[in-house]
Amino acid sequence: MKEGQEQASEMENKDLSSSAHSCSCSRNEDGIDDSILCVLGSKIVRSGLLDSNASGKVLKFVNAGGEDIQNDGDSGICIMHDQAFKGGDILRTNETILECGSLSSLYQSVRFGNFYYQFDDLSCGDYFLDLYFAEIINTNGPEGIRVFDILVQDELAVSELDVYSYVGANRPLKVMDIRVTVGLDGVLVIKFKGVIGTPVVSGICIKEAPKVPDTLLFNNLRTKHISKYEKKIEELNTRCLMKTNECYEAWMSLASLNKQLEKVHQELDKKSFENHCLVQAMGLQETKLKDATRKHDHEKNYWITAINALGNNIKIMKQEQTKLSCKAHECANLVPDMDIVISGIQRQVAQFEDLKQKYNEELLKRRKLYNQVFCRCRPLDKHEVSAGHSMVVDFSASKDGDIGIVTGSSTKKLYRFDRVYAPNDGQVDVVADALPMVISVLDGYNVCIFAYGQTGTGKTFTMEGTEQDRGVNYRTLAALFDTVEERKDIFSCMISISVLEVYNEQIRDLLATSRASKKLEVRQASEGSHHVPGIVEAKVENISEVWNALQAGNNARAVGSNNVNDHSSRSHCMICITVKAKNLINDECTKSKLWLVDLAGSERLAKTDVQGDRLKEAQNINRSLSALGDVISALASKTTHVPYRNSKLTHLLQDSLGGDSKTLMYVQISPSEKDMNETLCSLNFATRVRGVELGPAKKQMDTSELQKLKSSLDKAKQDLRSKDEALKKLEESYQSLEVKIKYKDQVHKNQQEKLDDLVGQLEFKTQLCKQLEKHTSQLSDEVKENKYICSDLQKKIKELEDKRTLQVQPLKFAAQMQSFSSEKSNNTSKERKTWSTHTSMEVMNHNPRVLRASNRLPGHGSDLLRGTESLRELRRKHDAHNKSGVENSFVSSSASVTGSACLFDGKASGARQIDPSKAFARVTRTAKPFPVVRNIMNKDQAQRVKERGAVNTRLWSR
Ligand code: ADP
Ligand code: MG
Repeated sequence: MKEGQEQASEMENKDLSSSAHSCSCSRNEDGIDDSILCVLGSKIVRSGLLDSNASGKVLKFVNAGGEDIQNDGDSGICIMHDQAFKGGDILRTNETILECGSLSSLYQSVRFGNFYYQFDDLSCGDYFLDLYFAEIINTNGPEGIRVFDILVQDELAVSELDVYSYVGANRPLKVMDIRVTVGLDGVLVIKFKGVIGTPVVSGICIKEAPKVPDTLLFNNLRTKHISKYEKKIEELNTRCLMKTNECYEAWMSLASLNKQLEKVHQELDKKSFENHCLVQAMGLQETKLKDATRKHDHEKNYWITAINALGNNIKIMKQEQTKLSCKAHECANLVPDMDIVISGIQRQVAQFEDLKQKYNEELLKRRKLYNQVFCRCRPLDKHEVSAGHSMVVDFSASKDGDIGIVTGSSTKKLYRFDRVYAPNDGQVDVVADALPMVISVLDGYNVCIFAYGQTGTGKTFTMEGTEQDRGVNYRTLAALFDTVEERKDIFSCMISISVLEVYNEQIRDLLATSRASKKLEVRQASEGSHHVPGIVEAKVENISEVWNALQAGNNARAVGSNNVNDHSSRSHCMICITVKAKNLINDECTKSKLWLVDLAGSERLAKTDVQGDRLKEAQNINRSLSALGDVISALASKTTHVPYRNSKLTHLLQDSLGGDSKTLMYVQISPSEKDMNETLCSLNFATRVRGVELGPAKKQMDTSELQKLKSSLDKAKQDLRSKDEALKKLEESYQSLEVKIKYKDQVHKNQQEKLDDLVGQLEFKTQLCKQLEKHTSQLSDEVKENKYICSDLQKKIKELEDKRTLQVQPLKFAAQMQSFSSEKSNNTSKERKTWSTHTSMEVMNHNPRVLRASNRLPGHGSDLLRGTESLRELRRKHDAHNKSGVENSFVSSSASVTGSACLFDGKASGARQIDPSKAFARVTRTAKPFPVVRNIMNKDQAQRVKERGAVNTRLWSR
């Protein structure tokens, strides 16, 4: 109660302070900080007791959220149930409200939420308003969980009331004596507005306001108040001075910070520019690198293609080279073949020469053989030996073909023949010399071998021989068949044999089966050869058939009776071997004859004492032998007419005597002295025959050997010629191939060199690219580093900004306080204002820094704000630059430079337009001014970048 009285008196005092709104920062007697009260005279009380002596008469008392409360206690106030409210909810509690006196039920119900109270039936005038509160909802707090404003007649009466913070939960709190004025409408509106949480109210009490005190009291009260406020103003001034000092210090530190900031800005600008330059350089380098890489790739592709093409070319060339080498090798291999060919040809030529020589020798030989005379002397027979006949034949030089006839004791007649056979020479020796001539029959020559001599000198022995010791006929024919056998691959021969006898100039065919055959005559055929029509020509194929034919002829030979010789000696026995040969190679056919003639005895008729037939025989023999001698003589004398027809013998032998025929005559002589004359006759005849030049032998239609040789020679010559040509061609092609190979080799070498060169270039370019990449990576590292530095700088700036913000806040507060005090001064009195101004001036004069600070503060504040804004702008733009590119960043950085320059401009005439070129000048160390800022700066920058680029280009190109 006592407390209530005190409060009432206090309230009275406060009531006097009119309805002026002011904030009370002091604490009341309850120890409650009532700074939240906005109505002068109102107060906050912890107690919940409803004092009956409360100031003023209670007009209305509403139990908010509750029912009527009857007046049980001393108060005598009737509390009505909740009414006149708009909105909100009700909450009630059964918990005990501590220290609430007798009206605990008032606090146990509350209206809460979005609500207000409107009392409409009040009369015009002033009232006191008491509001009752208790925290019954958030009983566990904490403080500040429910904060709300109370507006009375739409004017703030209580600001940010927090019941819990004052009294805690379930304890009463009331705001008393809120003076309100109700207008003519009689409406009182009490509004509750939640700041944090929802407002609550337990009760509302409207009381009558006491009457207004008189003026004196009011003046006293005012004086009290004024002194109180003056004290407060003084305190505030002191605080203001302190704050000014603090502000000055803060300002100084801010200035230093701004300086630092400027430095940082400069550094940032520099770094930004460097960064920009680096980014540009990097961009340039990147472009270059891309170009280089592209070029490199392009060149790489080109060179790869070129290398592949070259590789293919090389492959092709290698293949060609291999082919050419093969060809060259073939040619080279052919060269030895050519040597072989040449040597073969040379051999053939040598062979040919040899053959030629042999041929010539053969010709000579055969020429010798054409007309050869061999002399054979029989041994003395037993009769002659027994008769004591001496040998008249000297064989001492028989090897040289000389034979001597000892005609007297001191005289000796010498004869020379082609061969001389002594009595002891056998048939083999005699035949051996005749064989070559016989063999030439197979070559187509006509050959005539006959034995001439006195009867009993061995003509028949030489020609026929004995069975044990066969003579010329058998042996030569045997040799003939052997040769035919040897040559059967080249020649096919048909040999036929005719055996004739010319007796008394009559030709007898000894092979004729019938004795009474008609007379045979010699006829000349159309081709010039002579033949005997009707004669038997027995075909023989081997020597035995020949022998049989010879035997048959021998048996058929007429046998005469004579004292000296038998019949055979009186007739010429003639064997004609006809050889028809066909050259199987050139189909050349030859027909040649071999005459083997055993002549009749050449002894003179005088010696023979014969008559009649015998005489006729002898005459015919002599005639025929004479005719033979005549023919030979005619041939020797080369007379145009050769008397072949003078005897059957010469007529038959016409083909085989002279001309192209070969003749061999065996002159048979007897060594006995008794036959010496006949021997000399025979030798003379033989000498006459031998001395006859019968002319060169002529091959009878058989030129096969020669032709063969000739053809082989021609062939060889042609071969040689063609081989020579081929060799020449080969040599030429070989030379051309060599030239080609050399050329290909050269090309190959050149291409190899090119390839090596290209590979070198490729390596160099690859190295260059690597260097570029390295350089780019270095640049990007530098950029990263710069970014890192920038971010550091930004951090620093932010820190500085934060610091500055912290320092600016007290300044702001001081400014507010100052304005507030001036306002108050204006409102109270002019004197106070004068005093206040004086005091302020004094203070300011006392501390000129305060004046400067206070004068400059707003302007600087705005500058700072601008600075801050520019920094923010810078940061924002820098970020944008990081995103969008270099150009924007550059512009923003220049803008920030401008901002920061404005901030620290010493003149108060607003923001100084800093020349950005100077900033660049600082960065680039260029002293030239730039009248047009951005464009020229950009140009300059572009120029510099260009220059740097050019420098960089030169560096790269180097
Ligand atoms: P021609 O035929 O000349 O009348 P032959 O041939 O009938 O003579 O010979 C007469 C004889 O002399 C024969 O008994 C023969 O054997 C012999 N005679 C001839 N020549 C020789 C000789 N060279 N060696 C041995 N005996 C011979
Ligand atoms: Mg005889």
